[in-house]
Formats: sequence, C-alpha cells, structure tokens
Amino acid sequence: MARETAQTDEAMIQRLRDVGLRVTGPRLEVLKVLSSGEHLDVEAITGAARARLGTLTSQAVYDMVRHFLDTGLVTKFDRPGWPAVFEIAGKPHQHALCVNCGRVANISVPRQELPDKRLRGWNLDSVEITFKGECPDCR
Ligand SMILES: [Zn+2]
Ligand SMILES: [Zn+2]
Repeated sequence: MARETAQTDEAMIQRLRDVGLRVTGPRLEVLKVLSSGEHLDVEAITGAARARLGTLTSQAVYDMVRHFLDTGLVTKFDRPGWPAVFEIAGKPHQHALCVNCGRVANISVPRQELPDKRLRGWNLDSVEITFKGECPDCR
C-alpha cells in the first residue's frame, strides 16, 4: 500500500516537472486529490487537500488550478448554475450533468463532426456536448 502511494507521488512529481512547474507540497497534494478521477470544484479540492496539509486557502487552490489549466495538466468543465469542476487531463470525453445536484460523469460518445462548412467564415476546432438529466442518486 505504502509502495503504491510512493509510485503515485513519483508520477505526480514527474507530471509537474514535465510541464515545467516547480514541485511543492500543496501542488502535489492538489494533484493527488484530483487524481481520484472525480470532477471537483475549487471548494471540494480545497477541503480535501486541507485535511492533509493543515492550512490552505481556496484562493491558493484557485491559483494552482489555473496554472495546471494553463499547462494542460487539468481540464475544466463549466457547469451552468454551479462552480466549474476540474479533472486531470486525459482522453477526450464528453460529460453528463445532473441538473438537480450538479454531479458530473464522463461519457464517451462517437466523435462529432465539426459543421465548419455550414458556418461561413468560422474556424471551429473543438466540440463540447453536455448531456443533462438526473443522476442515480437524484432519480
Ligand atoms: Zn444528482
Ligand atoms: Zn470529465
């Protein structure tokens, strides 16, 4: 178990170095919280990381997450009506959003075509689809 944790630390340290960010305790902790695979907002990240770090402000986490976003370490998903959530960058995917509690789940759908030819003069380079409904807990 301890060994596994050490390997995870190594991987996280490497990820930070790969994108040219200095490895600090708080950065490592925030990355570890995000590596749970969940979609977490700044408050949730702060709460989880603070439990292990002692002191940590949500402003500090916000700044860290912005750096992670700029360097491509994490991706952001905007939830209308709730704070944005973040996750470790991985395979491209779409999201399902619970309109009742704001829970987010990953979903893989076939690649979507970009309708460039139907929008004159536009240069489209990405597509984001959000499926909305109720999660199992809210149904
Ligand atoms: Zn829900
Ligand atoms: Zn996701």
